[in-house]
Amino acid sequence: MLKGKTALVTGSTSGIGLGIAIALARQGANIVLNGFGDVDGPRSQVLEAGKAASIRVGYHGADMSRAGEIEEMMKYAAAEFGRVDILVNNAGIQHVAKVEDFPPERWDAIIAINLTSAFHTTRLALPAMQQANWGRIINVASVHGLVASAQKSAYVAAKHGIVGLTKVTALENATTGVTCNAICPGWVLTPLVQKQVDAKATAQGISNEDATRQLLGEKEPSLQFTTPEELGELAVFFCSAAAGNVRGVAWNMDGGWAAQ
Ligand code: NAD
Repeated sequence: MLKGKTALVTGSTSGIGLGIAIALARQGANIVLNGFGDVDGPRSQVLEAGKAASIRVGYHGADMSRAGEIEEMMKYAAAEFGRVDILVNNAGIQHVAKVEDFPPERWDAIIAINLTSAFHTTRLALPAMQQANWGRIINVASVHGLVASAQKSAYVAAKHGIVGLTKVTALENATTGVTCNAICPGWVLTPLVQKQVDAKATAQGISNEDATRQLLGEKEPSLQFTTPEELGELAVFFCSAAAGNVRGVAWNMDGGWAAQ
């Protein structure tokens, strides 16, 4: 379905970004990976997923908090792959503290990585998508783009912000073949959430199993984690012809969290 297209997925060396990269590769898209840590493992998983379509996989290690590095990454993608047809803005970090205790430098980093990076990648990817009259921009927001939780001020602000950016980008391109939509997951058991489970277990002197059960029980009516594979399939849907007129939605996959 996506053979000949190129998808750039930010923060795709782990978790949800890697799940989305694998799902798009399975549909035949070439993939540009980004993110920190081990790259060889994710690269071989993505190559394996796209084996039938003989996809190409690239990597750029741009730090999403730095506009200059984001620009270099977009230039790299254009030079190596011709054009970014599918842009998935997924890189994100988290910090948990009350507003009065929130370290200002963590606030700045969360806004830069979770929100401002998507502005930069989007503004740089749009002209070529508009020229081709085809493009898919998928912003990985969060249920926290729709509702709030205590102690997550920067994260909630950034995720509400990216839902806003999604709607504006969708509107500005509404008469073209370029769509922009957001995905709003609830809990997904990735390294980002594992840290929160570990912190809860330590703070309350309980087992990780009990901390996990509590975490789900507090917010997620389904009492189930969403998986990176399921989110990958949602991204594939947004790239499909059937979703060509789906514009500016913020689609929860949150076990009923935001329905409460
Ligand atoms: P993760 O920690 O598993 O992965 C984050 C990815 O972003 C990694 O590849 C990491 O290297 C990369 N990254 C971090 N800082 C970066 C930077 N400065 N520059 C470039 N790459 C950077 O996290 P995840 O849970 O897969 O989260 C991915 C996205 O999904 C985030 O935007 C997060 O807010 C969102 N999300 C996660 C959950 C969840 O429950 N896990 C729920 C809702 C939304």
